[in-house]
Amino acid sequence: MKPPALTPRHALFLDIDGTLIDLAATPDGVSVPPGLATGLRALRDRLGGALALLSGRKLTDIDRLLGPGLVCAAEHGAILRDSDGRIHATAQRPAAYDRWLASLNRAARQMPGVLIEQKEFSLTVHYRQAPEHEAELGQLVERLVGENEDAVILLAHSAFELRPRSGNNKGEALGGFMASPPFKGRIPVFVGDDVTDEPAIHKANELGGAGLHVARDFNGSTQMVRDWLLGAG
Ligand SMILES: [Mg+2]
Repeated sequence: MKPPALTPRHALFLDIDGTLIDLAATPDGVSVPPGLATGLRALRDRLGGALALLSGRKLTDIDRLLGPGLVCAAEHGAILRDSDGRIHATAQRPAAYDRWLASLNRAARQMPGVLIEQKEFSLTVHYRQAPEHEAELGQLVERLVGENEDAVILLAHSAFELRPRSGNNKGEALGGFMASPPFKGRIPVFVGDDVTDEPAIHKANELGGAGLHVARDFNGSTQMVRDWLLGAG
């Protein structure tokens, strides 16, 4: 799909990692291109405020990378910040969270390069630097989540996430934003790069907009995404 020329009739939804910025070996290792944060705010203003980030990251992480206050769905939709700056959760922390954290930390100590990320509602096991442990970690995560009905496993780029079943996914987050101003009545455009972005890609298409994928629609290039958004190219 050819990315549409953005107009003030659009509502824009953007994943961050692998979409706006390049992936790095670790979540903390990413670098944010100069001008991105201010460019996004200018774009938001052009769209009458209808710009939201849909990320797997924690809210504090999103603010650290792109500056505070942007409308967003953090932790894949488990936490929302609306256009009035109100923050609310769509999820509850799984009951076994602390027990899982202890087990995962124990396992990670035996697997150099494996990183356990604590989020508000989820735990993410990153193995980008230790892909040889993927199968073993997958089994561990399945064993931990097992019969816990309040949790599910989310597969992402080189990561397993143990997350609450109750939380919104990115598609539901997009749909929720589209139900109220300043998004309501606009044409949704979403860009993402991961399997966790597919629900939002689907939702944007279903609502008559465009669900775009970095690999399929931008040659896999975050630079192409930024050029399209910020008109630098
Ligand atoms: Mg991504």
